[in-house]
Amino acid sequence: MRLIYLDHNATTPVRPEVLEAMLPYLREHYGNASSLHTFGRTARKAVEEARGRLAHLIHAEPDDLVFTGCGSEADSMALKGVAFANRRHGSHLVTTNVEHQAVLDTCRYLAERFGFEVTYLPVDAAGLLRLDDLRQALRPDTILVSIMHANNEVGVIQPLDACADVVRDFSQQIGRRVYLHSDCVQSLGKLPIDVRRLDVDLLTFSGHKLYAPKGVGALYVREATVMDALINGGHQELNRRGGTENVAGIVALGAACALAEAEMGAEARRLAALRDRLEAGILGAIPEARVNGDAAPRLPNTLNLSIAGVDGESLLINLDLEGIAVSTGSACSSGSVEPSHVLRAMGVDKEYIRGSVRLSLGHGTSAADVDATLEVMTRVVERMRQLSPQWEDARALR
Ligand code: PLP
Repeated sequence: MRLIYLDHNATTPVRPEVLEAMLPYLREHYGNASSLHTFGRTARKAVEEARGRLAHLIHAEPDDLVFTGCGSEADSMALKGVAFANRRHGSHLVTTNVEHQAVLDTCRYLAERFGFEVTYLPVDAAGLLRLDDLRQALRPDTILVSIMHANNEVGVIQPLDACADVVRDFSQQIGRRVYLHSDCVQSLGKLPIDVRRLDVDLLTFSGHKLYAPKGVGALYVREATVMDALINGGHQELNRRGGTENVAGIVALGAACALAEAEMGAEARRLAALRDRLEAGILGAIPEARVNGDAAPRLPNTLNLSIAGVDGESLLINLDLEGIAVSTGSACSSGSVEPSHVLRAMGVDKEYIRGSVRLSLGHGTSAADVDATLEVMTRVVERMRQLSPQWEDARALR
């Protein structure tokens, strides 16, 4: 059976060019990047070259980048690091209620265990936050705002430039910088990010969403940001993150950034065209299917669909049986399926949340994959609906 992978927002395959670049650092160049001998210096040089590649992609200074073990660690480091180091200025944080769990759970932890107060900004039906809500949420004791760039479930892109302007205006009013963090895990390599123009202090990245392997991430930290380290114990990363560097993973992230820089514009256009073709095909072939997040700017590769009369989990399993890998936005916790917090925040009806699936395209996705997916989905949904008593009842009423 031909397998079609449409879950690139969950993780991406390692690109062959990236694997080629990293392998020597697992084989012969295995030195510790902190060692002074030739092995160590070879590893150090590779780490610094990779740092330069990521810096180049986002137009940052290389020293403003800290390598981490994953995107979740970078999110945690940004939030806890700033919160703990700036408590004398206040204990209020602002975020949105459509963030990834890595941000939401860190906020909850800071609130429950350390008494920080968190304001969660709502989003509208399109999935966008309102600048007025952000303006109103800022207080003299606010120390950090965390707003994701692009959402992992629906692909909606928040107006980060405009948010940065609001946070800066407010910082000027109070005479102290309120830090702005953005989770860019889903946008790096898909959307241009330029820290020379974007007035942010902290940005989170993750290698495995960008065709590098799992186990490497990075945090951009603008110079003069006051924050604590999350991992103590070594002088690595200019004392900002202890721990022996994952040299091969870092090299891979650098190689992935170089590829993204060379290909991003053309690849974004290619993926958007494929995604739009899939979307139009599904909406044309499957009655009572809707797209979540299409009223806002979206990542070019992401398609979040709600299909009435089917259960998203069952659709996922049925598609998997036919060799197509997709995902749902729901989280499985203690055996029960939690409906997507993102779709709930967007005010999507329960029935449509239940029937939601995310298809996320990537470098290996072809037009033939899209056409095969369309054919299988149409057939599978029709079969599932025939077996669904609720769908039959609802149809009888129409
Ligand atoms: N932030 C977003 C928006 C994500 O989509 C993810 C992963 O799904 C993460 C953070 C966490 O990244 P990692 O898997 O590298 O910990």
